[in-house]
Amino acid sequence: MTRHIGSGTLVIATHNAGKLKEITALLEPHGVKCISAGSLGLPEPAETGHSFAENALIKARAAAEASGIVALADDSGLAVDALGGRPGVYTANWAERQWFEGEPGRDWYMAMGKVEGMLQQIGPSADRSAAFHCVLALAWPDGEHAIYGGQCRGSLTWPPRGTMGFGYDPVFVPQGHVQSMAELEPAEKHSISHRADAFAKLVADQFG
Ligand code: IMP
Repeated sequence: MTRHIGSGTLVIATHNAGKLKEITALLEPHGVKCISAGSLGLPEPAETGHSFAENALIKARAAAEASGIVALADDSGLAVDALGGRPGVYTANWAERQWFEGEPGRDWYMAMGKVEGMLQQIGPSADRSAAFHCVLALAWPDGEHAIYGGQCRGSLTWPPRGTMGFGYDPVFVPQGHVQSMAELEPAEKHSISHRADAFAKLVADQFG
């Protein structure tokens, strides 16, 4: 049986203000008080895992050990079937500009183009199926943990469409939809997303 968070304090192991806000809104109705790893001055560990679950657990464990409080972390990304699951845990890295490409930072158009280029190399009949994955890890200071995985399946389109969302949303068409994730209203995206799926599993298991 899974261990429960109860109604105590939870450290959210993210330094991303948007994620913190979204996670807090989902968990506070269940009586959980959320505080961020950033506000406690906790360092961000290197994401050296080979899977979303490994990386989520690295982040949750680091925060739980440093704070002495149960911690929650997530890791997410895009897995393309015809590319053997790539970019996978390297989803954000594929957007990183190299030194010769101008200002450092992330270029999502370049990252989407990289995926598309690889599919076009396979040929016009390439399988364009893909999925966004999200793994949530809960870690207790004594080492116990729980993992919840969510996904949103769909297919890749080109050229990119839509201006809402972020990351690879403009090239991802969720199953059962004609619009890309970046053309869907945020409320609709949030109801079908990989993060919604993972959180539904966490909430059912922890508070159901
Ligand atoms: P991380 O979980 O913050 O490491 O995010 C990994 C990367 O996956 C992000 O930088 C995005 O590029 C991509 N990603 C995760 N979720 C989404 C999503 O909902 N839409 C588009 N891209 C996403």
